[in-house]
Amino acid sequence: MTKVEYTDIEKKYGDEIAIENINLTVDDGEFAILLGPSGCGKTTTLRCLAGLTEPTEGTIEMDGFDVTDIHPKNRNAAMVFQNFALYPHMTVRENIEYPLKVHGVDKESRNERVQEVTEMMEMPELLDRDIDNLSGGQQQRVALGRAIIRRPSVFLMDEPLANLDAKLKMSMRSRIKVLQRELGITTLYVTHDQEEAMSLGDKLVVMNDAHIQQIGTPDEVYHEPVNRFVASFIGSPAMNFVDVTIDSDGVLRATKDIDEFEYRLDSDVADRYTDYDEFVLGVRPPYFTVNTDPVDNAIAGTVEVTEPQGDQQIIDVIVGDEDGESIELTVVASNTIEADRGDTIWLTIEDTLVHGFDPQTGDRIGKQETVSRTKASQVATERSTEGN
Ligand code: ATP
Repeated sequence: MTKVEYTDIEKKYGDEIAIENINLTVDDGEFAILLGPSGCGKTTTLRCLAGLTEPTEGTIEMDGFDVTDIHPKNRNAAMVFQNFALYPHMTVRENIEYPLKVHGVDKESRNERVQEVTEMMEMPELLDRDIDNLSGGQQQRVALGRAIIRRPSVFLMDEPLANLDAKLKMSMRSRIKVLQRELGITTLYVTHDQEEAMSLGDKLVVMNDAHIQQIGTPDEVYHEPVNRFVASFIGSPAMNFVDVTIDSDGVLRATKDIDEFEYRLDSDVADRYTDYDEFVLGVRPPYFTVNTDPVDNAIAGTVEVTEPQGDQQIIDVIVGDEDGESIELTVVASNTIEADRGDTIWLTIEDTLVHGFDPQTGDRIGKQETVSRTKASQVATERSTEGN
């Protein structure tokens, strides 16, 4: 069982900074997900722990022991790659037992461990098959089996599901989650897929542009994003952002010249923004309420597109003049709401769940987290029972 600690890790390739100022602790048995867009430095962060990439600065410790200069073979970290990296000329059995063979484990113990792992991965019948004759999902199970057979201290996975189709991805996702819990092995898992990250990990490490932006539980990064990047990267459909002004009565107006975008915030919520004349308003699509008749204090818009999603629908709404200044908002509403292209609808906002971001730095303004999370679950419950 192993605790991993990165301290001030930096990796440069020439003048290019791949990762910088990486400070991260992954506790014993924890499942941490490195999440971020392509090129943000996730793989480099993982490879530094495996010993496959040498950091330019900083230290990495495993259980308090500095492993920064330790050879990869001596770190007891097992890595699973996107392309599985299996040996195509070997059978399933030979692939799985390979790491034990390399470490000189005797035949009898090897057979026992192969049996144990293949039962765990539910594939004993595949043992004598050639790798070439396996499906993508089966190959990924072999790759996982090969990684766990050594009973590693740390499990490193680099987009292990990226090459699988959607259905297989879902079933492998739950398999990995259960396996990780059962084995209790400290795990770092790289993905650029926020849905995958939210469903898998205990701890999300959101990265962008070579830096860690936020570390938190899936719930925290969703409800308490530290900045606009995290707010936009987490959640689907993505959060709506509107540049607004705020007056002393707490009335928001779009900075674009759009008469329809005027909304009075509750005074408690408006108080968060007293230091600002302008900020960036952030509203997640489910936190609008759609009204098909005019209501007080609502933003009028025109339905552009509706997209049914089972018992919900995604509605794209244009506020303002399509030929002049306008803002597009994405709203999630119950499918009981009748909204067709061209219809006018009136949007109200779940005030306590809005976010405000500093227009210059992009940092979130104010602290509304506790209210926000309690209110969010209340809204979700109300909607599931009433239908929006
Ligand atoms: P992806 O999701 O596309 O794999 P990533 O978030 O894992 O991306 P990294 O692969 O860690 O990102 O790359 C971070 C940055 O470092 C990128 O700009 C990349 O081009 C650069 N980089 C990575 N490896 C090397 C290398 N061996 N030589 C030069 N630059 C590299």
